[in-house]
Amino acid sequence: MKRILFISLLAAIAIASIVTVGWFTASRVTFADYRERGVIILMYHKVNPDWKTGGLGLRVPPREFDWQMHFLKENGFHVVSLNEAVDYLEYGKPLPEKPIVITFDDGYRDNYYYAFPILKKYGFRATIFIITGIVGKTNEWDEREGKPTNYMLTWQQIDEMAKYGIEFGAHTVNHPRLTKVPLTVAEKEIVDSKKMLEEHFKRPIKYFCYPYGLYNDQIIKIVKKAGFRAATTTKLGINTKGVDLYQLKRVRVTGHMSRRQFVEQLEKYLRERA
Ligand SMILES: [Zn+2]
Repeated sequence: MKRILFISLLAAIAIASIVTVGWFTASRVTFADYRERGVIILMYHKVNPDWKTGGLGLRVPPREFDWQMHFLKENGFHVVSLNEAVDYLEYGKPLPEKPIVITFDDGYRDNYYYAFPILKKYGFRATIFIITGIVGKTNEWDEREGKPTNYMLTWQQIDEMAKYGIEFGAHTVNHPRLTKVPLTVAEKEIVDSKKMLEEHFKRPIKYFCYPYGLYNDQIIKIVKKAGFRAATTTKLGINTKGVDLYQLKRVRVTGHMSRRQFVEQLEKYLRERA
């Protein structure tokens, strides 16, 4: 009888220890992982309430964008610049917990009218990838394919946003499919877009974004040779230390996503190793 009691006691102690150690390990892992697992880069295009400017695949209504930014702020995410993220990914310069980068492709004028005031409201920075040949004009590359007309940012708007701290990257001159045009054309698109932005800002432009997410080894080589430090793709995922800086993954946000889906997507990538 005594022996049974003793064994039960031992078992109880063992279970209690496992539960306690497990709990400590789990909570420690959660914090360490957020730091080690890497950086989420959100990808937006248009932030616009007007359905006439295009489908929800590329357009997030401002109310939803505001909710998403509010969610990030309230849930321990730290919006960092793409430059800070790359400093971490390249040589481990420390980042705050749950780092997240906000990017916009193409440079739509609605970024200025709708996204910018919301970013300012939350004190968030972002990077916008500009198609340098159509600044102040319309989305000619899309219009040619029968898509609705959208106005693009003007240099004046770009300057105002840059003054606040929005970063600008290059997204070619005319938004071609870089893997479908001759390499000499691709090279000119990549190099010239960098040059145009640098002439405007009088400082180096370090980040590139592949139009349509299309690239291959030759395109990467050109982007490197042009002097870009890193490039973003449309490949889905989270970026961990040692990632190929010319193939940065992103998390796409569309207007089709419910609030719940937005949150679930973030949680999914935070949990998953790249
Ligand atoms: Zn684009």
